[in-house]
Amino acid sequence: MLKVAYHPIYVHPLPEGHRFPMVKYELLYKQLLYQGVFTTDNFFEPEKVDEDHVLLAHSADYWKRLKAMELSYQEIRRIGFPLTEQLIERELRIVEGTILSSLSALNEGVSFNIAGGTHHSGSNWGEGFCLLNDQAIAAAYLLDKKHSEKILIIDLDVHQGNGTAEIFQNNCQVFTFSMHCQNNFPFKKEVSDLDVGLPDKTGDDKYLELLDFHLKSLFSREQPDFVFYLSGVDILASDKLGKLSVSEEGCQQRDSLVFQYCKEYKVPVQVSMGGGYSPQLRAIVDAHCNTFKQALRVF
Ligand SMILES: [Zn+2]
Repeated sequence: MLKVAYHPIYVHPLPEGHRFPMVKYELLYKQLLYQGVFTTDNFFEPEKVDEDHVLLAHSADYWKRLKAMELSYQEIRRIGFPLTEQLIERELRIVEGTILSSLSALNEGVSFNIAGGTHHSGSNWGEGFCLLNDQAIAAAYLLDKKHSEKILIIDLDVHQGNGTAEIFQNNCQVFTFSMHCQNNFPFKKEVSDLDVGLPDKTGDDKYLELLDFHLKSLFSREQPDFVFYLSGVDILASDKLGKLSVSEEGCQQRDSLVFQYCKEYKVPVQVSMGGGYSPQLRAIVDAHCNTFKQALRVF
C-alpha cells in the first residue's frame, strides 16, 4: 500500500508576524481524503528521527547547538522564524517521515511526505524556513544502510537546493540536480552536480522541454537506483515568490515526466512537497494534490 507521512504538528502555528502558510499541509491532507485519492490507511504519523541519522548529513556542532537552541541571532535570522522546541520537534518528525517513506518506496515504487523538501539547510546551517534537510538525511541513510548505491536528487522547487548541493558536494554516490529560477533566493548559490538556472518568466514549453532533455540524459548516464523528488509548486505563474510562469497544467506535466522516467527505469522515488506561495491557497493545494494524482496514474 502506498504510504504518506503526515503528522498534525506539520501545521504547527508560527508566532504572529511569521504567518508562513503551514496551513497548506492540513488542507492537502484533507483534500487527498476528500477527493478519495487516499484513505486514512495510507497515512502514517512519523516519530522523531534518531539523532544518529541527523548526523549522517549535518555537522555535530550544528545539531548540538540547534537542539540546545543555542544558535546565534544571525543563524536564527537566516532560518527566518523564531526557534521553538516545537518547531524542532516538527522538523525531526518530518525528517523521519521522509526516511520511512523512502523505505516504503523501495517496496511500493513511490512514497510521499506531505511536508519536507527542506533543501536550504546545509551541513552546518539552517536557512529559508529549513532547519534540517530531510531528503539529504534520508539519502545518506539509504546509502549508510546499503539500500542504495547511487541516488539522484531531482529538485524542481523554484529555489535552488543549495543545502543539498553543499551536503553532497564531495559524494559521488549522490547526484544533485536542481532546476530553479536563477534570479531568485538563495542569491549565493552552491554548486550542484547539475544546476539549470532558468530566466524569469520561463513558461510551460521551455520548462518542460529542458526538463525532459536533462532527465533523459541523467537517467541513462547516472543509472540511479533511487530518486528523491522535491516537487515544490512555487514554479507556478501565480506564485508570489517564484518569478516563473508555469501553468497548473504545466506543473502536472512536470510531475508526470519525473514519474514516467522513474517508472521506465524502474527506480523507486520518494517525494517531498517543498514550496508553494500562491496568494490563493487553493492553487497551492490543488497543485500539490496533482503531484499525488500523477504518481498514482503512472505507478
Ligand atoms: Zn521554494
